[in-house]
Amino acid sequence: MREEEVSTQTGEVAPGVLYVVATPIGHLGDLSSRALAVLGAVDLIAAEDTRHTRALLTHFGVHKPLVSLHEHNESRQLEMLLSRLREGAAVALVSDAGTPLISDPGYGLVNAALAAGIRLSPIPGPCAGIAALSVSGLPTDRFVFEGFLPPRAAARQNRLRQLAQETRTLVFYESPRRLVDTVADMVLVLGAARSACIGRELTKRFETFYRGTLEQLQAEFAAQPEALRGECVLLVAGAAPSTLDLPAGGPEAEGVLADLVSQLPASQAARLMDRWFGGGRAHWYARAIALRGGE
Ligand code: SAM
Repeated sequence: MREEEVSTQTGEVAPGVLYVVATPIGHLGDLSSRALAVLGAVDLIAAEDTRHTRALLTHFGVHKPLVSLHEHNESRQLEMLLSRLREGAAVALVSDAGTPLISDPGYGLVNAALAAGIRLSPIPGPCAGIAALSVSGLPTDRFVFEGFLPPRAAARQNRLRQLAQETRTLVFYESPRRLVDTVADMVLVLGAARSACIGRELTKRFETFYRGTLEQLQAEFAAQPEALRGECVLLVAGAAPSTLDLPAGGPEAEGVLADLVSQLPASQAARLMDRWFGGGRAHWYARAIALRGGE
């Protein structure tokens, strides 16, 4: 363990420090004065998309050398950035929007910098998931950030099954193109009655929040497809703790089992249930037999 001291006074940067700087997720007024001071004082800025960041910096009258750092060139750029930091340059890392590394590039650089003994300092600011959570009305004492679900339906449903018993509030990022399918999968796997919130276009002109059960949100989007434009965060209440007292998988799993035993032999239903929800084949076989009236 090593203690580090990094100057954090507004307008000052220390040599050889990597600053991880959050930038706006829409409203430019959300760039903090400290973030602006740091971006104006560093020697070099590593940006996910240099054109995007240059436009932001130009708006604020900041002109600094920019280098691109994204998932496809991160390993190539690391050595150059580390050697600049070792030489004493102060470097800022930014992404296109919000907090770097949060569903954004930078993980490789941060860890390479740590391994190289380089000091790091966060300049905190906007993060879409946290902003949406703060007004969602869902429990905030414990939550899980899940980022993007897999784009393909089978993998997405599988991931949702793994999350079905999670009692903490679930925070997802989602593309508007997939939102309808994702909400439909959530109704299927997590159950129609879960409370949820969708935050769209946060901090922007058309900022909108949709709150209700997953089923209500599904109906709302079917009725107004224009709601499907823009960026969005999808938050879903965790499983009610009481469902964990029920057999493995909770009431949603029992519903799935009921469907399966109406069409398949109990042994096959048990095998599928164990694969999807865990809990063991023997457990599901006994439940299947019980559902059939103990034949
Ligand atoms: N690093 C960012 C952060 O701190 O929130 C997230 C970057 S991730 C590539 C982009 C996703 O974040 C979008 O697809 C959307 O799910 C969410 N997002 C970003 N800005 C948003 C906004 N203004 N309103 C709603 N969601 C937003």
